[in-house]
Amino acid sequence: MALQSVLDEIRKRPGKGEVIPVIDPVTEEQITEFTDCGEQAVDDAVARARSSFEAGAWHGMAARERAKIMWRIADLMDEHTDELAQLDSLNTGMPLAQAKMIVPSCAEFFRYYAGWCTKLNGTAHEVQMQGGVSGTFAEMHAYTLKEPYGVVGLIFPWNGPVFNACGKIAPALAAGCSSVVKPAEETPLSAVLLEKIIAEAGVPDGVVNLLLGYGHTAGAALTAHPDVEKIAFTGSTEVGKHIVQAASGNLKKVMLELGGKSPVLIYDDADLNMAIMMAAMGIFVHSGQGCVCGSRIFVQRGVYDQVVEGIATIANSLKLGGPQEEGSNIGPLISQKQLTRVMGFIDEGKRDGVEVVTGGHRLDRRGYFVHPTVLTNVDPAMRLYQQEIFGPVVTILPFDDDDEAVAMANDSTYGLAATVWTTNLARAHRLAKRLQAGTVTLNCQLVFDHDVPFGGYKQSGWGHEFGHSGVDAYLQTKSVWAQL
Ligand code: NAP
Ligand code: MG
Repeated sequence: MALQSVLDEIRKRPGKGEVIPVIDPVTEEQITEFTDCGEQAVDDAVARARSSFEAGAWHGMAARERAKIMWRIADLMDEHTDELAQLDSLNTGMPLAQAKMIVPSCAEFFRYYAGWCTKLNGTAHEVQMQGGVSGTFAEMHAYTLKEPYGVVGLIFPWNGPVFNACGKIAPALAAGCSSVVKPAEETPLSAVLLEKIIAEAGVPDGVVNLLLGYGHTAGAALTAHPDVEKIAFTGSTEVGKHIVQAASGNLKKVMLELGGKSPVLIYDDADLNMAIMMAAMGIFVHSGQGCVCGSRIFVQRGVYDQVVEGIATIANSLKLGGPQEEGSNIGPLISQKQLTRVMGFIDEGKRDGVEVVTGGHRLDRRGYFVHPTVLTNVDPAMRLYQQEIFGPVVTILPFDDDDEAVAMANDSTYGLAATVWTTNLARAHRLAKRLQAGTVTLNCQLVFDHDVPFGGYKQSGWGHEFGHSGVDAYLQTKSVWAQL
C-alpha cells in the first residue's frame, strides 16, 4: 500500500465528529486529515469485537493456527517495512533510518507472541481438604485454566506508533482476546496499514478493530464502555488516572504504562566516554520523547564538570532536522502543543534561576525543533525537575556517595527506569536493589527485548508488558476443583 493511498484512505474513513488534521512536525504543514470516529463507532467496534469473541472466531481456533497467522503478520510487516517506516517517519519526523531500525523489531512482537499461543497453560494442584461437607477427609484435585479476558481496549501515544501498536496487539492476539485499538490522534497513519496487514494475514473480521479519534472522545468512550473487560493503556500519568476512574463503572481491569522521570547515576569509576555518550543519547534520542529517557542525571562530584561538559558537547553536535534533511539524527517534537509545553518548562526554569549550559531554545526554523538542553543549578522543588517534560531536556546534579545518590534518584513520584554507570559491579547490583524503578540498567541504556518484562513502579504504571507477563496481562485465571 503506497504512502499516498494511506493518506487518501484516512480522509475517506467514515466518522461522526471533528475533522482532525494530521500535521508534519518538520514542516508544520498538514499531511492529511480524518474525521473523529465518534461514540457510535466505539459502540459498533466493541459490538464487533464482542460477537467475534462470543463466536470463538479467534480464541476458538487451534493455538497453532493462531500462531501461524501471527507469524504471517510479522512476515507481511517485513515485506512492508519501508512503508511502515516511512509512515512513522513522516508522521513523527523521526529519522527514516531510525524508523527502519524499529519496524523489524515491531514485527518481532508477533513472532515472539506467536510462540506463546501454544504455551499458555494453567497449573495442576494436588490438594487434600480436611473436614469437607461430609466431615471426612477428601482427596481433591484442582487445576487452573488461563482464559482470555474477552474484549480489550488498547490505547497508546504517538512517540512510537508502530511499536506501541504491536506491543499491545500481539500479546492480546496471543491470549485470544478481541480488541478495539485507538492510536494517538497525532499519529494514525501506520495504524491504517497495520490494520490491512492484520486482515491480510488471516485474522478474522471483528478480532482487531481500529478506531481513529481523540482521546477525550473515542478513548474516553472506549474506557467507560460497559462491554470492555480490560484497558491496556500507554500514555501520561495524568490520563492514566482518568482511565482508572472511567474504568470503575464496570470495574474493568486496567494495565497502565505511564510516564517517567528516570535517574541516571554516573560514578567517578565509570567508563566515562561510554557513560557520557549513552547518557546523552538516553535523553536526546527522539528529542526526549521516550518513556525511559534518563531526564535526571546525577554525577559523582569528582567528575561532575567533565560529565556536564561532555554531555553538552554531544548536545551541540547533534544535527536536528527532518527525515529528508541530509545527516540529521534527531527529529522534532510531535506537535505545537508539545513544543509549547516543553518550552514552558524551560522558560519557567530560566526565570527561577537554572543555569542553561546549552540549548534552552527552539531552533530558528520551521518545525517543532528544540535544541538539546542541559540544565544545572536546579532546585529539586522546581516543576521541571519533578514533572515529566517528554522533551530533549536534562538536569544534571552532583552527588557524593551512594546514600545521597539513591535518595536523590528515588525522590520522585515516578518509578519507570533507572541507570547506573560504574565499574564497581558489587555496587551496581546493590544499587539495582535500592533504586525504585521497574527497570534498572547497569552500564547500558536504551535496551529492549521482547522477552523482558517492562512496567513501572510508583506512579509509572500498573502491570507489565512484554515477556510472559505481557501475555498473562490479557488472561484471567480460573481455578477448577474436583473431588476424586
Ligand atoms: P496521553 O496524552 O496520555 O495520550 C495517550 C493516549 O491516550 C492517546 O491515544 C490519547 O489520545 C489517549 N487519551 C487521552 N485522553 C484520554 C481519555 N480521557 N481517555 C482515554 N484515552 C485518552 O499521552 P501522550 O501525550 O500521547 O504521550 C506522552 C506520554 O506517554 C508521556 O507521559 C510518556 O511518558 C508516556 N509514555 C509511556 C510509555 C511507557 O511504556 N511507560 C511509553 C511511551 C509513552 P489523543 O492522542 O487524542 O490525546
Ligand atoms: Mg494526545
